[in-house]
Amino acid sequence: MISKGDKIYSILNGLCPRCHQQKMYRFSNPFVVSDTLKMNEKCNDCGLKYKMEPSFFFGAMYVSYAVGVAIAVAVFVVSVLIFKTRLITSFYWISGTLFVILPIILRISRNIWINFFVSYDSNAASKNR
Ligand SMILES: [Zn+2]
Repeated sequence: MISKGDKIYSILNGLCPRCHQQKMYRFSNPFVVSDTLKMNEKCNDCGLKYKMEPSFFFGAMYVSYAVGVAIAVAVFVVSVLIFKTRLITSFYWISGTLFVILPIILRISRNIWINFFVSYDSNAASKNR
């Protein structure tokens, strides 16, 4: 099971990658497009600065590309193998799905990216106090 301390827990919930105590994003709803990528500057629990250097999250673009391809493949497999759609129809499904969940892809990619660099530390929050 996924629980606190697992990287995937931080990634799926958008939590601080070091203490897993609080959300990195200022607004919980990713679908308000103007707010999708608004993040807190740092974690109030452990003091981790999310944007470690200027344009830190630029690298998340590569992650979002990989995530996008993975989702496209998944949608393709489901539509062709399960729903037996034609190729062109599966293409519409892929485009539609990627478009609709783009805000989620963008956030998940940032979460994955920052988790490459920061590991969970169960003592992080208390150390900072
Ligand atoms: Zn933290």
